[in-house]
Amino acid sequence: MTETATSQKTAASSAPFIRIENVSKSFGSFKAVDSVSLAIKKGEIFALLGGSGCGKTTLLRMLAGFETPTTGKIFIDGQDMTNIPAYERPVNMMFQSYALFPHMSVEKNIAYGLKHEKMTDAQRKDRVREMLDLVQLSQFGHRKPHQISGGQRQRVALARALARAPKLLLLDEPLAALDKKLREHTQFELMNIQHKTGVTFVVVTHDQEEAMILSDRMAVMDKGQVKQVGAPTEVYEYPNSKFVAGFIGSINFAEGKVAAVNGDMAEIDLPSMGGRFTACSIPGLEAGKDITLAIRPEKIAISRENPGTKNAVQGVVNDLGYLGKDSLYKVQLPSGMIVSVNLVNARRVGEYDRLAVWEDKVWLSFEPGSPILLTN
Ligand code: ATP
Repeated sequence: MTETATSQKTAASSAPFIRIENVSKSFGSFKAVDSVSLAIKKGEIFALLGGSGCGKTTLLRMLAGFETPTTGKIFIDGQDMTNIPAYERPVNMMFQSYALFPHMSVEKNIAYGLKHEKMTDAQRKDRVREMLDLVQLSQFGHRKPHQISGGQRQRVALARALARAPKLLLLDEPLAALDKKLREHTQFELMNIQHKTGVTFVVVTHDQEEAMILSDRMAVMDKGQVKQVGAPTEVYEYPNSKFVAGFIGSINFAEGKVAAVNGDMAEIDLPSMGGRFTACSIPGLEAGKDITLAIRPEKIAISRENPGTKNAVQGVVNDLGYLGKDSLYKVQLPSGMIVSVNLVNARRVGEYDRLAVWEDKVWLSFEPGSPILLTN
C-alpha cells in the first residue's frame, strides 16, 4: 500500500460511521430522547447504557428506522437516513427475545435472515454454513431451537442477524435471557465474533458490567440525554458528574470546600470525613469552591493500625459482607457518614482471622490520586 493509500485508510476508518446529530424524539409532550449527538466509528462495539426508561431503546429504534426522529438527523456511512425505510438500511437488529422460529431448524432460522437477498440456493447454503461456522454451531444445524441451550440460541440469533452482512448490527439487551455464568462466557464470544466480522455493533444494555466488558466506547444516558461518552476506563475512572460516577460502579461521596490549590494538588475540607484531605486537582479549581470528593470502595485501604499517612481517618466497622473474592466493609465515621471499602481476599482467610469484624475500630486511608473531584 502506498503512503497516500495508508493515510486515506486511516482517515476513512477514523471518520464517524454513524452520526447522530441533535436527535430528539417526543411521544406527545414527553421527550424520550433529548438532543442527542453521537459519533460512532466503523468496527466499534458501542454501548448505550442507562437505567430503565432513559431512552436507549428509542434511540436504537431510530437507528433501525422503526421510529422517526422528531428533530435532528441520523447518518449511516455518510448517508442521511431521514427518508430511508428500515428494510433499506444497511442495518440489522437482534432482539432481546431472539425471536427464533420454534418449528424451524437452526439452519432454516439462519437462512430466514437471507429471505430478501437475491441468491441462488447454493449461495444461500454456503452462507448459512459460513454463519454456522462463525458461531461454532456447525454440528447443530438440524436441531430445533428447543433442542439447544440458551447460549446456543443466542448465537443462532446472532448468526441470523449477521447472515446478510449488515454494516451495522443493533443489539437490544443481547444477553439478558442468559444466566450469569453463561452471560460472562457469551460476552467474550460476542466480542470475538464482532472482531472476526468487523461489523459495527451498537448494544443497548442497562447492565453496567456488560457495557464495560463488551464495549470499546459507551454513552451513559439519563432522562433522554447523553451524560458522558468514553471508553469504559475513562467513564469509570474519570466520570464527568456525580450522576455518571454513581451510575457506574459503587462510589463514596463527600461534600466539601476547596481550602487551597497548590500546583497539581488541592486541599479539601470535608466535614463529613472529619478534616482536610489532599487530592489531585482539576482545572478551574480555586479556594472557596464547593466540591464533591468521590472515591471508589476498592481505592480505600483499611487497616487496624494508623497508617501514619495523609488522608487517613478512623471509624468503626458497621457492617461486613463476605463475597468470596472480596469483602465489603461499611465503616462509620464519627460524623455518621458510612464509607464503603472493598478488600480483595488475596489470601484464604478463615472465619476468625479477618482483618476486622463488627464494632472494630479501623483506619481508612487513600492516595491523593485515588479520589475524583466533581463540581456537578
Ligand atoms: P428499558 O431499559 O426499560 O427498556 P429504555 O431506556 O430502553 O428503557 P425506552 O424504551 O427508550 O427506554 O423509553 C424511553 C421513554 O419513552 C419511556 O419513558 C417510555 O415509556 C417512553 N416511550 C417509549 N416508546 C413509547 C411510545 N411508543 N409511546 C409513548 N411513550 C413511549
